[in-house]
This record gives sequence, C-alpha cells and structure tokens, in this order.
Amino acid sequence: MGLEFIDISREEGERVRANGTTGSRREPGGGRPRPVRQETSRTIRYENQRARRSEVQRQVPAQTQRARRTRPAGERMYSEAEERRREYNARNRNGNRLQNENRSRDNNRRNGGRERSRNYAGYNNPGGNVVRRPRPVDPRVQRERMRRRKIQRQRVMAAKMTVLLGFVLVIFFTGFTLYKLIGDFTKSNEPQQTFNSYTPTVERREVIKANETNKPIITEDFLTINEYSRPGEKLGKVKNIFVHYTANQGTSAAQNRSYFENLGITGETSASAHFVIGYEGEIIQCIPLDEIAYAVVQRNYDSISIECCYLSEDGKFTDETYQSLLRLSAWLLKEYKLAPDDMRRHYDEGGKKCPLYYVEHEEAWEKFLSDLEQHIMKNQV
Ligand SMILES: [Zn+2]
Repeated sequence: MGLEFIDISREEGERVRANGTTGSRREPGGGRPRPVRQETSRTIRYENQRARRSEVQRQVPAQTQRARRTRPAGERMYSEAEERRREYNARNRNGNRLQNENRSRDNNRRNGGRERSRNYAGYNNPGGNVVRRPRPVDPRVQRERMRRRKIQRQRVMAAKMTVLLGFVLVIFFTGFTLYKLIGDFTKSNEPQQTFNSYTPTVERREVIKANETNKPIITEDFLTINEYSRPGEKLGKVKNIFVHYTANQGTSAAQNRSYFENLGITGETSASAHFVIGYEGEIIQCIPLDEIAYAVVQRNYDSISIECCYLSEDGKFTDETYQSLLRLSAWLLKEYKLAPDDMRRHYDEGGKKCPLYYVEHEEAWEKFLSDLEQHIMKNQV
C-alpha cells in the first residue's frame, strides 16, 4: 500500500502494534499528519498515551520531557501551531496552576463553558490545520477537572451553609429577643394585676435601713396549743405580712381571740392569726412569732398574719385600728428586714375578699402602703 506507520513514540512502537493500534500514518514523502483509522479505539489510544507519559515522567526530568515533546519537523504528528499550543498548555499545566485556573474560569465565563473547545484542538479550533475529529479527553485532565469541580462544589456548599447558619442565628436571636420582651412585659404586668401598683417613693433598701420603728404596745395572750388554731409548728423564713379583717362586724379583739381559742374545743374550723387589732387600736398577740398560724392556706409557713376588727359595714377600719396597723406592720417589717411592698392582703393570695374594704377599694390599700412607708421614714432616728 505504500503506507507506513508512525507511532506515537518510538519507545512504545512495539506495544502499540501489539495492542492492535495503528496510530497515525502519513503519506509517503512527508506532509501533514492525518488521523486515519476511525475504528481506532480511543480508550486504547489514551491508555497508551497515559502509560507512555507516566513512564517518561518517571524516568526523565521535566525539561528533557519538554524537549522531547518537540520532535524533528519531519516526524511531527501535529501542525506547528498545534505543537505550540500543546507546549503552552503543558507549560501552564506544570507551571502556574493558579493562572491556568483563572484563565479557564475566565474563558468559561466568556464563552459559556466552551473552555474545552479552546484548550483542546477540535471542531471550534480556528487554527484549521489540525485534526478535525474531537479528541477524547485525557483522563488526567478529566481527573483534574473533576477535582476542580469538586472543590468548586464544596465551596458553593460552604457558602450555602454559611448563609443558612447566618439565617438560623438571626432567627434564633430575634426569637430570643422577642421572648425576653414578652417575658418582661408580662412580668411587669403581673404584680399590677395580682397585687397592687404601689410604687415606693424611696428605694426599698433605704426604707428597710431607715426603719427604726419601736415595738408597739402588744398584749401577749397566746392560745393554748391545739390542732385547729395553734398547731405549734415552726414558722419558716418570713417573706410577707398578711392583713385580714375579722368578717364579723363590731366584734372586739378579745372576742376574736376567744373565738380562735374555742376552735380548739369545738373543732368547727381551722383559723387563727398572730395578731388581732381591735377597733380601739388595741393589739392582742395570739401566737408566738416562731410558730405558724392558720390564716393563709398556701402561706402559713412563711408569713405572719394580722386580723383587724371593724365597725363600719363596708369593712373600713377605724382610725385607731388603722394607726395600730401602721405601727405593728412597720415594726414587723423592721424585724424581718422587709419593705412596705412586702405587705399583702389575704386577697392577694387566693382571691378571698379579705380585708373587704381594701379589696373593694384598691386605692385605699395603696394609700395604706404609702402611709406605711411615710410612717417608717418619719420614725427614722
Ligand atoms: Zn383573711
């Protein structure tokens, strides 16, 4: 036929033939190399190329490699332009990878991902004098490209995760702030609804510090220990002082004390208080201050209770009762290092209408608290 084979490299000539590959061939007498055999298996061809390259790389330093790649003019299998391109590509691959990557990315952007057609001779190559068949992609390049894509994907993923994390943080923070705001709002509303809107004119601590109230005149007449009014159980740390009314119009302090005393005999009900203030201002102590009274169901173990007598039908205290209540309360607050806002109506704990007048007249109760504060400040030594 007059054709002769040109193998890809002289060293592997034998192997190429053994694999049944023909490689390229040229017309006798030189001329342009031309791809001939369509049936040539791309895979085999590339495996051969790969094998050759890795072999060469293993043995020969890069410079020699480059030198070898440029073959004498007669034996070139590519056009000069293509050789230059290949040389350039090879240099870029081995040399400045970053630059190469940037260039590829720019190209990608510019020609809409047709990087491939630019870097590898093929259909879109404007040189024109090269093999017009698309060359299959070198697996090494492919691998490199996949590696780059993977990195790219990882970067995108990382960016997405960062944004997501940011969102979650913002949502969490907003939620937390809202929750806190709502919490503060309800908290600041609570005491107004449950207790009172009494606002101390002086700092709580100052009132406590200023409180030098002496013990008022108190008649100690303790009940006999019994299961219904004086159980004799130990009182814990006092947190509040409760004010009650006897719910028995016109009765005296002594009468009410007797009523508690009699409960121990009749067993009619459980009730008592540490103090009873009569409508003439007299104060009777029924239970020692280290024992509990049966006065406020939930709070018997950490509070002290004061019963107040009254004459008026609406339950309003007489002025004498009121003044005695101020003195007694002020002294108790001093003893337990509490402030006027630690005073409570029975009503505040459980909703019972006690003391009636000061439940139905909220402002009267608030006036009592501010009177108490002034009483304490006046008594300052
Ligand atoms: Zn009560």
